Amino acid sequence: MKSDTNPWGRWYEVGDRVFVRRNRTLDVNAGLILGDERCLVVDTRGSEREGQELRRAIRSITPLPHLVALTHSHFDHCYGTSVFADAQPDCEIWAHERCYADLAGSGVRQRAEISTWLRESGEEVLADEVDAVRLTLPNHTMTADVTLDLGGRSVVLHHPGRGHTDHDLVVEVPDADVTFLGDLAEQGAPPSFDHAFPLEWPDTMTRLMERVGRVVVPGHGHPVDVGFLVRQRTELAEVANLARKLPPHLDDAELEWHANRLAVGGAAGFIALKRAQEHLAELVSSGSRAGRLS
Ligand SMILES: [Zn+2]
Repeated sequence: MKSDTNPWGRWYEVGDRVFVRRNRTLDVNAGLILGDERCLVVDTRGSEREGQELRRAIRSITPLPHLVALTHSHFDHCYGTSVFADAQPDCEIWAHERCYADLAGSGVRQRAEISTWLRESGEEVLADEVDAVRLTLPNHTMTADVTLDLGGRSVVLHHPGRGHTDHDLVVEVPDADVTFLGDLAEQGAPPSFDHAFPLEWPDTMTRLMERVGRVVVPGHGHPVDVGFLVRQRTELAEVANLARKLPPHLDDAELEWHANRLAVGGAAGFIALKRAQEHLAELVSSGSRAGRLS
């Protein structure tokens, strides 16, 4: 699909009865996969108003009952879920078990933080919508692969390892050769590292590249292919390699200097290097604890 000037608010059929809807807010994607008996909604957008808009758009395509799969717990991917649960009380809502734990354990705090961040960014309307969101927990969780039967077609929910978060869920549609990656890949913006595992993300991408379909739908931006993932993996590997080489305990100014030389850019790179430093420090401390015990 070519990028165009106004790609938002319409469906793109990226494979046989597999649709992507790009949305203006954060250029986030939602997906829709039709079977003969049910449809699967991939991510529910960032507020109940946005979830309602998505559900109306789905109803313009199909009257089928729906299931929901959440790629991860970030608000722009899951805060519209209550709309789908309300509309259909037996709605299966799938996520990785750590996505459930994240929403159940700190969802209220995170919702307040997101609202504050939106307000500080001048997004008053969206901040009000986020404040009003009823957090809705997944009612089906996975760690190993799960196959869902949509009637005449199966989709697979897969967790490839830690990357953008510790609970990224990938949706594979084998018969259409399409894979939904959530924010494990982002088109049009650098990878987002705020809750990421920068040291492990490159290997997760390597595993993914062996099994993605011809069409890859990122969490944000237009659909891509495996060549895009190869390039993004190179950028992620550059971050991980630099993080491993840097001496520990660099101050922020020093980290910024290094981050500004990364292909992912200074802002994303700085967060990535901070996260990596924290994880390396945890590894050292757990290693020394293990050493003392042995
Ligand atoms: Zn995310």
